[in-house]
Amino acid sequence: MIDPHDQDNSILRRKTLDEIHEEIAQVYLSNGFPWVLGFSGGKDSTATLQLVWYALRRLPREKLSKHVYVVASDTLVEAPAIAARIDTSLRQMNEAAREAGLPLSAHKVVPEVDDRFWVNLIGRGYPAPYARFRWCTDRVKIKPNNRFIKEKVTEHGEVVVVLGVRKLESAVRKQIIELHKITGSRLSRHSLLPGAYVYTPIEDFTTKDVWDYLWLLPNPWGGDNESLRELYTSASGECPSFVIDHLTPSCGNTRFGCWVCTVVDRDRSMEAMAESGDDWMQPLIAFRDYLTSTQDPANKPEQRSLVRRNGQVWVKEEKLLYGPYAFDDKSFRQTLLRRLLQTQKQVRELGPDPHVTLIQPEELHAIRRIWRAEEGDWVDTLPQIYEQETGETLDWVRDDTSIFGVPEEKLLRETCELRGVPHKMVKLLLGVVQSYDGMYRRHNIYAEYDAILRRDWRSDEEILASIAQPRTDAREGDHE
Ligand code: SF4
Repeated sequence: MIDPHDQDNSILRRKTLDEIHEEIAQVYLSNGFPWVLGFSGGKDSTATLQLVWYALRRLPREKLSKHVYVVASDTLVEAPAIAARIDTSLRQMNEAAREAGLPLSAHKVVPEVDDRFWVNLIGRGYPAPYARFRWCTDRVKIKPNNRFIKEKVTEHGEVVVVLGVRKLESAVRKQIIELHKITGSRLSRHSLLPGAYVYTPIEDFTTKDVWDYLWLLPNPWGGDNESLRELYTSASGECPSFVIDHLTPSCGNTRFGCWVCTVVDRDRSMEAMAESGDDWMQPLIAFRDYLTSTQDPANKPEQRSLVRRNGQVWVKEEKLLYGPYAFDDKSFRQTLLRRLLQTQKQVRELGPDPHVTLIQPEELHAIRRIWRAEEGDWVDTLPQIYEQETGETLDWVRDDTSIFGVPEEKLLRETCELRGVPHKMVKLLLGVVQSYDGMYRRHNIYAEYDAILRRDWRSDEEILASIAQPRTDAREGDHE
């Protein structure tokens, strides 16, 4: 068992700050690869960047030949205070590096639209994440960071990824740091990305070393290490934003995590901020709690589809495992969108930023496209919900995915009811026809028809009647 506060392990007792900075400077000089430093705004990555900054400052200008990219990822569902803090930090870093003549620039990465949290939760209906179905980390954290690293590998051939991880965080962390170490070097091979090496300057720091170091030297880019400490007093744990693989400790004990995170039971830092005067955060907490309540088995029948995204019903040991948030008759994805827009309105009215955006316009466009294409939403629900909740309209693309509208929906529904055919099935088949319209190569069209026809088109009543024990209280079995 590792004690992160163990003072016998303190590196600051064994080495002077000068020696530590000099070591880092020597690693910087040891090869020509640029550095990509992951910055989350937390204590470990702040200490790492501060160390690197002081190390670079001791080198003569002619030796500062390779670039240091500082990268912070913004999931676009960051807690607002943390998002603002990171934006400020990146701006300060760029200014301070320019003034000091350091080859360092700070960048923010965001997930691709299709990977964003709301696009998957409201668009595709992925249930609010929990420990065993954390579909979001890969999409909103790992992929954007790795995309940046890959771009730099393509540009420069090889890069060194500098991470603020420590052996004393856990036995597993220690094992991982040591596993890929290159003999005789401070670098490790990146376990997933060819052309990338990993350097962990604070790997031997205890938690106290990190705080002592941040306390001993002023923040060189003008950041506020004291307020960082205050941020840590109100919450437990940390969700590093620079997650590059599934082994990086992440997202569960959130402080720097997303405000929507349902992996933790409570977001103590937001609660503490709300209690200490930032009342405007209450609607965010209420929305997050609402998302958490969707994990309650008692609520699932009203909110979830019985059919999974692959079109099949999944019964395990005679228990039904629910599919995504429902779109059709239960309209739960629509409910979530409404509540999110209402929350945005409240936060704009109560909070310091009257233009705060909880869901980006491009995400609304993407959700609309998914609803139209995958759910056969001929009624085009999303622009209507948006207008009802905000009183505004966005520059919606007209007829981008369907030539069918409300009259056709009504007619088709009546006809299908008469014939006893699932009308959504016909809508999806017609959608395939339409998507191939004017295309020369249509060889995939039959596979797409086949996939639609093979879906389980039974009604909920028929499905439930066919299962001996239709309800489950287990969360297991959520799959994409
Ligand atoms: S903090 Fe929570 S919501 Fe955000 S990526 Fe991690 S697990 Fe997902």
